[in-house]
Amino acid sequence: MPDVVGSLYVHVPFCTVRCDYCDFASEPVAGHLRAGRVATYFQRLRQEIQSAEHVLAQPLETVYVGGGTPTAVPPALLNDLLEAFGVFIGPETEFTVEANPETLVESTLDAFRERRVTRLSLGVQSFSPEALRSLGRRVSPGAADRAVELLRRSAWHEWSIDLVFGIPGQDLTAFEADVAEAVAVGAPHISVYDLSYTADYARCLERRLGPAARGEAEALAEEHYPRVSEILTGAGYHRYEVSSYCRPGHESRHNQAYWRGADYLGVGASAVSTVGLRRWANPKGVAAYLACEPPEEERLTPAIKRYERVMLGLRTAAGVPWSLADEAVDHEAVERLIGLGLLEKRCATLLSSPRGLDLGNAVLAAVLRSPE
Ligand code: SF4
Repeated sequence: MPDVVGSLYVHVPFCTVRCDYCDFASEPVAGHLRAGRVATYFQRLRQEIQSAEHVLAQPLETVYVGGGTPTAVPPALLNDLLEAFGVFIGPETEFTVEANPETLVESTLDAFRERRVTRLSLGVQSFSPEALRSLGRRVSPGAADRAVELLRRSAWHEWSIDLVFGIPGQDLTAFEADVAEAVAVGAPHISVYDLSYTADYARCLERRLGPAARGEAEALAEEHYPRVSEILTGAGYHRYEVSSYCRPGHESRHNQAYWRGADYLGVGASAVSTVGLRRWANPKGVAAYLACEPPEEERLTPAIKRYERVMLGLRTAAGVPWSLADEAVDHEAVERLIGLGLLEKRCATLLSSPRGLDLGNAVLAAVLRSPE
């Protein structure tokens, strides 16, 4: 009897243009459209979902369509794809689609509503034109403000803004202005990520801003991290994961399922699935995915799953039951970090303190024992 999964991730690997800092599986959409490959890709996605139908709960708890930029695809194609998820969408299903401010228009929201999309994740990254230039993100000035205004006008209930910090050239004042603007526009959910540097982006930065730019930005990012939580918790947001803040009741259920260690199915190029003790990752590029190259398979063990569950749980405010953490952590290190105020034991749960969440990976590195 196969395990049944409640969460589905669908990867749409197309963008209008590629940003210099991009670390996602994404390719410019225009060439694929001309060659008819976007329609073929969506057809293949439907086949992949169909062949996995026996492990998908009906209705699903969460569906997340990410990218890439799903809204960079012509609406007729995207709407057809969203329509195909109909049988999996129930009244309680959280159905999220990622959008780029540049490509969000009123008719997109109407079409999403018709297809029972409940949540939008808006990739803003920064409201500042200078910071966007530094990321090599080609968006027109004011696109984020227009998209946010559209969401507010249409009374869209569940939406999230993604911001990035540690952007070269972005000082603390500029970053604080970004966070303050996300609050001011009334985003119910804000995710704040530190910038990661791909080798291509690091080279590109060095050419544009000189060899010191990255080091300076990384040093400043250390200051930005604690400020994010000060500003957002001060504004009434609840930090429920290292990078995720929301008004009460606006958590992303899809991400929570993942952090809880729930099984999930991922379809599309580069998508990863975990079902029981099986994990597989689809080929990364559009061409390889369309050629049906086999996924990379990994066999998990109960110890690996427990390790991952504890690692993800300690990145959340809810923490992890001590009965699970017990075998996955170094007990002496846990006591030491409790003494330092970075971890807490509360009602049979081990959890990171707010300062422990700020230090994130350092806390995990200190307490987790390798599952091998
Ligand atoms: S919009 Fe996002 S996925 Fe697309 S190229 Fe830019 S960073 Fe990558």
